[in-house]
Amino acid sequence: MIERIDSPPDEGSENAYPILRTPAAKPIAGVTTSPNLIGLYTHYANNRTIPCTGKAECDFCNAGFSRRWHGYLGLILSPGLRHVIFEMTSTAAHQLKPYVQIYMTLRGCHLTASRPNGKPNGRVVLQTKRVDELQYRIPDPIDVWSILCHIWNIPTTCTELTPGAGPCLKKLDVHDNGRHGRHRAAPTR
Ligand SMILES: [Zn+2]
Repeated sequence: MIERIDSPPDEGSENAYPILRTPAAKPIAGVTTSPNLIGLYTHYANNRTIPCTGKAECDFCNAGFSRRWHGYLGLILSPGLRHVIFEMTSTAAHQLKPYVQIYMTLRGCHLTASRPNGKPNGRVVLQTKRVDELQYRIPDPIDVWSILCHIWNIPTTCTELTPGAGPCLKKLDVHDNGRHGRHRAAPTR
């Protein structure tokens, strides 16, 4: 029997939600769907970003690689309307603090990200503006942490550093106002 399926089948989270950094050449813009950032320490090794499993047991820390915090959120690009995971450094993430203090969530923020000096690792400038929710319906947030875990091939349950539990990740949410229990913050440092 023919089965009618009007919605296209799921392409898999890795293909569906690419990780996007701020490009050097031109700004990107979009609307955030995540209520808060998901963050963790990472290493850049073997031409890719790899999550740090904690200084004591991380192979990359022990090999002398520096580690950097990165924050991630769901962003629907405009133009194009593609839902991506936007990656930012801690310096960029701090620019979101005034917005979160006023609106208590990152969700529904029209975000523009640029590198004014045009260099691939140049300073990122984020501009924020509240979207008029009477005119737009913001799509549901994606589960950024689960998608990142899938991309990095790590278990989603592994979110805290537990003494004696072996290599594990520490998820650091910032800008969390405590109202989103699902993404409740581990302590930031
Ligand atoms: Zn490490």
